[in-house]
Amino acid sequence: MLYKSDSFEVSFIKENIAEFKFCATASVNTLSQQTLSDCATALKQLAANTDIKGMIFTSDKEHFIIGADVFEFLPIFTRSEAELVTWIKEATDVFDAIEDLPFPTLSAVNGLALGGGCEWVLATDYRVASETAQMGLPEVTLGIMPGFGGTVRLPRIIGADNAMMWITSGSTNRAADALKVGAFDAVVSADKLIESSVSTLELAIAGKLDWQAKRNVKLQPLKLNRVEQGMSFAMAEGMVMAKTKGHYPAPVMAVKTIKAAANCTRDEAMAIENANFAKLAGTPEVAAQIGIFLADQYIKGKSRKLAKQSDVEIKQAAVLGAGIMGGGIAYQSAYKGTPIIMKDIQQDALDLGMGEASKLLGQKVKRGHMSMEKMLGTLSKIKPTLNDSDLQSADIIVEAVVENPKVKQAVLAELEKTMPEGTVLTSNTSTICIDLLAEALDKPENFCGMHFFNPVPKMPLVEIIRGAKTSDKTINAVVDYALKLGKSPIVVNDCPGFFVNRVLFPYFAGFSKLVVEGANFAKVDKVMENVFGWPMGPAYLLDVVGIDTAFHCTGVMADGFPERMARADKDPVTIFANEKRFGQKNKAGFYKYETDRRGRLKKSHDETAIELLKPITEAEKAFDKQEIIDRCMIPMLNEVLLCLQEGIVASPQEADMALVYGVGFPPFRGGAFRYLDQTGLANFVATADKYAHLGAIYQVSEQTRQWAEEGRVFYK
Ligand code: NAD
Repeated sequence: MLYKSDSFEVSFIKENIAEFKFCATASVNTLSQQTLSDCATALKQLAANTDIKGMIFTSDKEHFIIGADVFEFLPIFTRSEAELVTWIKEATDVFDAIEDLPFPTLSAVNGLALGGGCEWVLATDYRVASETAQMGLPEVTLGIMPGFGGTVRLPRIIGADNAMMWITSGSTNRAADALKVGAFDAVVSADKLIESSVSTLELAIAGKLDWQAKRNVKLQPLKLNRVEQGMSFAMAEGMVMAKTKGHYPAPVMAVKTIKAAANCTRDEAMAIENANFAKLAGTPEVAAQIGIFLADQYIKGKSRKLAKQSDVEIKQAAVLGAGIMGGGIAYQSAYKGTPIIMKDIQQDALDLGMGEASKLLGQKVKRGHMSMEKMLGTLSKIKPTLNDSDLQSADIIVEAVVENPKVKQAVLAELEKTMPEGTVLTSNTSTICIDLLAEALDKPENFCGMHFFNPVPKMPLVEIIRGAKTSDKTINAVVDYALKLGKSPIVVNDCPGFFVNRVLFPYFAGFSKLVVEGANFAKVDKVMENVFGWPMGPAYLLDVVGIDTAFHCTGVMADGFPERMARADKDPVTIFANEKRFGQKNKAGFYKYETDRRGRLKKSHDETAIELLKPITEAEKAFDKQEIIDRCMIPMLNEVLLCLQEGIVASPQEADMALVYGVGFPPFRGGAFRYLDQTGLANFVATADKYAHLGAIYQVSEQTRQWAEEGRVFYK
């Protein structure tokens, strides 16, 4: 044994060739602070060992190294910029030490090499990968940029254009694609990985491969002349700005760093990366995006624990209703491997549901992501039927019929009567109280809400609603099924609208009031999209949700919370609903829609919508951007706070992830509670007080006021 630490060991694999094997005690290899510090000590010793003529880096895990230890980031990132530069330089010195070893080095990449793991393999002279290996620099998804030499080495290895594409998108690249651009030197079958790697290294040691020349490319400036550089960086900057709309500093900083270091040697370039990494690390966007990563880990851990406790084996599912939602649920279940019976009362609906599933699977086949055989296998897992008797084998049933409490109660009561005892029953209602639906059941303990979001295949969130009488057994089984569907389940307590719709409708109410007072809704959309960062503004979102659906939900919310959410006398949604302008579904709402050549709906200005609103709106006037944001967001944030105070949602992490995954709350803001922390709760209360005269949705609760006085923060 040449060296041993908690996370790696080094020994001779062959005479003169050392194997540096990552073998953490955890299930994956990560580059924690401790590991990096151990590596620094080990590399010093190994460099001085004249018996070593070459070194191969391997992993004993399914993956190579999945990155730095993200759990360590946030406390480190609170340090001063100067301290951060010192810290990150120490880390990059380790990677430089790999690159400067006095013998040829090679990474044998057997699985994922991501982030710091990718930067590790870039520091070695050769990279041989197995066919299933993947590499990438996903740092921008955490709001940061590669900081262990990735912005320096990758452009020198695969060219600036490719490198900027990888780094700014945060993509994970398959072995074959990485080979094409030269990130991997060879791709071999998994069983040949070590053998091929050792023989490559032997060729280098024997001088038959010029490893020094290969290394030298990484130590020198980029091989691009000034004109090429000008074009390359201008294009990358333009693309990044268009994509991030200025909300995500990380990809912008990454391009800036590569550009600034283009004509530098490695050491000069590394100093630029160190400095820019430190600048970025202290930004609120980094805290928000890393916060999302940590909150995601938190909700995953919580749901896995519940699923593990489930004693219901879900071999067969069923969905009632083959509409937009039922069809989507059937597709997702079959695609993820749980067979599903899809029942409707109309053959047309079943045909439409099956047609939609075939279309979605067909697209996967067309893009080369699925074989024809797998497509047919998946389709055969959906069993369409008009007969109740076909449901008998289902272990869980998702009711997704029309949003009408009487119809839902009748359907659920019938199911309880006819299905074997103990079958788990759920409803995909978007607003109706679970306890109200449960009144129709003899055994409400077997029932809960399972609220999917539209479109089901795309939206990660499933809200699981615990009724007053729902048993833990039911919740555990439904969480288990949601995880099997590849979704992120979040368990909430029951109330009208549950969590997501309960907080969304006050936001719509705030927006409607602005429009009634003369705000131009298209301008409000622009501010909420371009300045606040929502994927779509409130008017556009209402068109997507469906004006009829929104009108209906507003009624349910008004009944549930009459003191705050009573239907307004002057309400754009009511006007459009009465005119049967249902939004995207019939191509007219706030906007009008046309299908483009690629089959996508394109929105445009519609004078008719403006005319229809005239009787209830004041003359158009301009509103300040911040006022628009405050007047839309305060009602939502107030309701989010109430949901935590009433125990509808259990933690800030779950609330924030539900908003990010369910309605696309801007990730760079990290969710509602992160936003409140960054705004300061006292500042939020002061702003809300300014608008308190506008109505109850702007008035903060006593608890919120008290929290503000105590200086409460939601993320420590
Ligand atoms: P939809 O109108 O597209 O589909 C409803 C389907 O249920 C129709 O095919 C209808 O034939 C069928 N149906 C009616 N009575 C039935 C019965 N007794 N047995 C079997 N099938 C029956 O509606 P949707 O948009 O899919 O919504 C379904 C449910 O999902 C509603 O509760 C809705 O609130 C909820 N939801 C909808 C969305 C959305 O964006 N559309 C999002 C989340 C939740």
